[in-house]
Amino acid sequence: MGTLENKTALVTGSSRGIGRATALRLAAEGAVVAVHYASNGTAAKETLVAIESAGGKGFLVQAELGVPGDVDTLVTALTAGLVEHTGEARLDILVNNAGIMGGVKPEDLTGEIFDRLMAVNAKAPLFLTLKVLEFMPDGGRIVNIGTGLLRYANPEEIAYSMSKGALDQTSLHLARLLGPRNITVNTVSPGVTNNGTPIFEVPEAREFMANMTAFKRIGEPEDIADVVAFLASNDARWITGTFVDASGGTLLGG
Ligand code: NAP
Repeated sequence: MGTLENKTALVTGSSRGIGRATALRLAAEGAVVAVHYASNGTAAKETLVAIESAGGKGFLVQAELGVPGDVDTLVTALTAGLVEHTGEARLDILVNNAGIMGGVKPEDLTGEIFDRLMAVNAKAPLFLTLKVLEFMPDGGRIVNIGTGLLRYANPEEIAYSMSKGALDQTSLHLARLLGPRNITVNTVSPGVTNNGTPIFEVPEAREFMANMTAFKRIGEPEDIADVVAFLASNDARWITGTFVDASGGTLLGG
């Protein structure tokens, strides 16, 4: 028996990277997982195949976040998938993982870039969360994926970090609101995590990134997925409204 038998989960942005590892881990614990993606249907299908190959269950949900009607599109597909695969529209676990980074020097930052970061990383997860609360039972779990940059300065990610800071605020305030329903809300904040992009193949970049952590290695998506799975489990029932540093000690300094 896994820790999440008879549970359902939505992991936004689970076609790739941390989201994929999280979807796989939650499914391995027994949850039926909605694998959400924006445009990379091939990668999302790979996630679903990996879940099913390991004996788990899931289904695909496509919806671009950060555009008008995003949450309605996602929730319509999600509830249809839940009914088809479990017989009811009940969501036990929401992982707000989908996100975009900035990588823009402060002097090059535009209002459009700022608005897009806020729309995808902060506004969409807030309104998605508020919507799924309508069909999340007592004892549910909400995990927001933040960033170590909430505590570690990088001027090129000021707008990104602001958007993640806004997301982190939802953990604090919704935790208070939802406590009476035994729903926990927490932020898990990764440091540099290998999401398969080409930079992780460059030896000099790898060494630099590894040296940022206390353990002198780059974080892997599974390092984050394991923390999310714990927070989603019954064992984490007494933890809510927190910022969980999952950066391999990056925030300790060199
Ligand atoms: P990733 O590999 O870049 O994958 C991003 C995922 O989010 C994909 O599934 C993508 O879907 C989806 N997505 C992107 N924009 C979207 C949009 N507008 N609407 C809907 N879905 C969208 O991501 P990652 O590096 O694993 O990061 C996952 C989360 O961790 C993000 O919130 C990120 O900010 C945070 N984080 C990452 C790191 C890191 O070093 N990797 C560090 C700290 C925090 P498609 O495949 O369809 O494009």
